[in-house]
Amino acid sequence: MLKGKCAVVTGSTSGIGLGVAEALAAHGVNIMLNGFGNGADIEALRSRIAREHGVTVLYDGADMSQPAAIAAMMQNAAAAFGTVDILVNNAGIQFVSPVEDFPPEKWDAIIAINLVALFHTIRHTVPGMKKKKWGRIINIASAHALVASPFKSAYVAAKHGVAGLTKTIALETATFGITCNAICPGYVLTPLVEKQIPDTARARGITEAQVVSDVLLAAQPTKQFVTVEQVAALACFLASDDAASITGTLQAIDGGWTAQ
Ligand code: NAD
Repeated sequence: MLKGKCAVVTGSTSGIGLGVAEALAAHGVNIMLNGFGNGADIEALRSRIAREHGVTVLYDGADMSQPAAIAAMMQNAAAAFGTVDILVNNAGIQFVSPVEDFPPEKWDAIIAINLVALFHTIRHTVPGMKKKKWGRIINIASAHALVASPFKSAYVAAKHGVAGLTKTIALETATFGITCNAICPGYVLTPLVEKQIPDTARARGITEAQVVSDVLLAAQPTKQFVTVEQVAALACFLASDDAASITGTLQAIDGGWTAQ
């Protein structure tokens, strides 16, 4: 059903984005990878995904905090693929600190990468999707698009912004065969989460083991991390034709966190 379609997945050199890119490639989708990392590692990743799944895989290292770089990446993707059928806005960063100590430059970076970048990728993608009368926009938001946690002011603000943007784009594109949804994962054990464990321990004055048991998994009634593969499978479903009537939604995949 998705074979031959083309996707841009931002922040796909690691974690959830990489899992989504691989899962889409396994469905026969051509992929534009994006994200930071070592050049040789990224090239190895690019060629492995292309070889294993028999699809075209390109890479653009656009920094999602730079609107001009985003515009160039979306132009590259459109030039290479014709149209971008599936846009997965996944790139994201985190910083954990009490608000009074929150460095303003960290606030700006989180809002730029986790929220403003989505405005830019979407505005460059929608015209082609409208012309084709088909498109899927999937925003990797967070349980923090639905509820807050202390010490994550910028991240929670950005992700709540993504929720509003998702609903608005869904309404604007609803008659064009385009859907726009957000996936709201609970904790997934990726480098992004691993990196915030020491900072959370410092901010709360507890050990790193206590952060995992009393902060991260405490929020999730299942007491399990959500897996990258589970998030990727949900993204593939939202990209499918079976999901054509699902738009403007915030899909929680959080082990019951936001049911509380
Ligand atoms: P990760 O750190 O493993 O991966 C982040 C990816 O984004 C990497 O490929 C990185 O290179 C890229 N990236 C970072 N800054 C960038 C920039 N300026 N320009 C381009 N690429 C950039 O993180 P992850 O956990 O896989 O997170 C992916 C998304 O999922 C984020 O939006 C995050 O907020 C969201 N999320 C993660 C969790 C979790 O528990 N891991 C939970 C909910 C939501």
